[in-house]
Amino acid sequence: MKFNIQDTFNKELPADPITENSRRQVERACFSYVTPKHTARPSLVHVSPEMAEELGLSEEDIRSEEFLKVFTGNTVLDGTAPYAMCYGGHQFGNWAGQLGDGRAINLMEVEHNGKHWALQLKGAGETPYSRTADGLAVLRSSIREYLCSEAMYHLGVPTTRALSLALSGDQVLRDVLYNGNPAYEKGAIVCRVAPSFLRFGNYQIFAAREDTATMGTLVNYTIKHFFPELGAPSKASYVQFFQAVADATLEMLVHWQRVGFVHGVMNTDNLSILGLTIDYGPYGWLEGYDHGWTPNTTDRQHKRYRYGNQPNIGLWNLYQLANAIFPLIGEAEPLEAVLEGFKTKFEQKYRDMMKSKIGLYKADDLDPHLLDDLEENLQLTETDMTLFFRNLANFKKQVTDSGAFMEVVGEAFYVPDEVSGEVLEKWKVWFATYQSRLGQEELSDTERKQKMNSVNPKYVLRNYMAQLAIDAADKGDYALIDELFVLLKKPYDEQPEQEKWFAKRPDWARNKVGCSMLSCSS
Ligand code: AMP
Ligand code: MG
Repeated sequence: MKFNIQDTFNKELPADPITENSRRQVERACFSYVTPKHTARPSLVHVSPEMAEELGLSEEDIRSEEFLKVFTGNTVLDGTAPYAMCYGGHQFGNWAGQLGDGRAINLMEVEHNGKHWALQLKGAGETPYSRTADGLAVLRSSIREYLCSEAMYHLGVPTTRALSLALSGDQVLRDVLYNGNPAYEKGAIVCRVAPSFLRFGNYQIFAAREDTATMGTLVNYTIKHFFPELGAPSKASYVQFFQAVADATLEMLVHWQRVGFVHGVMNTDNLSILGLTIDYGPYGWLEGYDHGWTPNTTDRQHKRYRYGNQPNIGLWNLYQLANAIFPLIGEAEPLEAVLEGFKTKFEQKYRDMMKSKIGLYKADDLDPHLLDDLEENLQLTETDMTLFFRNLANFKKQVTDSGAFMEVVGEAFYVPDEVSGEVLEKWKVWFATYQSRLGQEELSDTERKQKMNSVNPKYVLRNYMAQLAIDAADKGDYALIDELFVLLKKPYDEQPEQEKWFAKRPDWARNKVGCSMLSCSS
């Protein structure tokens, strides 16, 4: 196994001079060197062939003893110097101080085919940032991260990736329901991959400590490697940097709303500076379309991170990033202009995205009610988002029967009987308006269907699907992990033999832990 190792983060940025692995506040440094923990009996569960290929690994490499050892933390490759990053963050709206990679250990950066990747183990043991926790991860949450991050990639959503999923062979104690009943679970390690794992919180921590010098060094590093087109450091390039981060964040959020992904913990330490979906924890997928839904049990009361609030929170987080880098610029106006622009840009992009979901492409003054009413109607009675939009592509420009829409999208309603009376009336009105608007489109029904199917996935990682894979894996059966992994590589394609996954959430999953609500305990 030969990597083209090209470390930059630990070569160009200030390191914590202390190398002992004790929990502490780390000042004036971007990271601390740390060695992954030795595991008892590591074994591989799954490897992403696509990600392996991106890194230049052969089948033989993947099967080697060295691969297993490196990606479970038992061997540190020559010429690498693993480390944990220092960052802070706002958690649920409050400044939480230093957080950092409490259980993520960066192994190395590699270059292949002109692409630059950072490789990181999640769950490989404690670091100086582990605070009161153990630095480990359990199989349950590792399967969720592994499957979802690769699925998001194939959906075309900007995201960190995953190379491998392994069991550590160690037992890990977790209190899933936070009710004083901790139990042992299988420990696991995921190797995550991304151009960079930098988060908003990496910059915020230096602002909080009034260490403008180190923050400047980190911003300059970020621009040099990830936004090289912005040129040499200057106030102007810092503002452009902020604009680029805001644009990337916005882009990611529009994708989340398009596919019905709810992150669940949009703290500023969980927002990537590159606009990648990062830190798959208590995330969830919308089943019933519901702006108020949050998958995270910790968020149940205030629903700060609910589906419909994700764009606002993205903007809130950008405000915090603006505050952090302000000392480098010294003027609020250009940063405020970027934040102001976010709102209008988001509205425009969101509208275009929603139009594409319903197959309208003409650049005209769309009746604003058409989209608003659609979102309202979808929430009148529990309506499966994925089924609704995918099946909507079968609607015809010319139907004679006004009730024909039920044949097209009826399957999406969880309680079909509720589509009666006023609810039925509202849908009839909507479909009548929709149909007349479709009449202005030039595409044929077949062409439109093809286009709609490229933005409305047929298969997403429904919450219960991940849970089924977890339940089987707990018993040592990994077949479903592979089945879902393969299914979700082609989320927009018809896969007739996999039609069973194109269905509403089964009733047993409605209130089951892991299927409808998720704990942060991972
Ligand atoms: P999260 O909410 O998972 O993004 O984590 C928030 C912070 O807690 C980050 O600094 C994590 O690295 C840290 N953390 C989460 N779980 C653990 C764990 N089991 N051991 C150590 N640190 C953890
Ligand atoms: Mg995190």
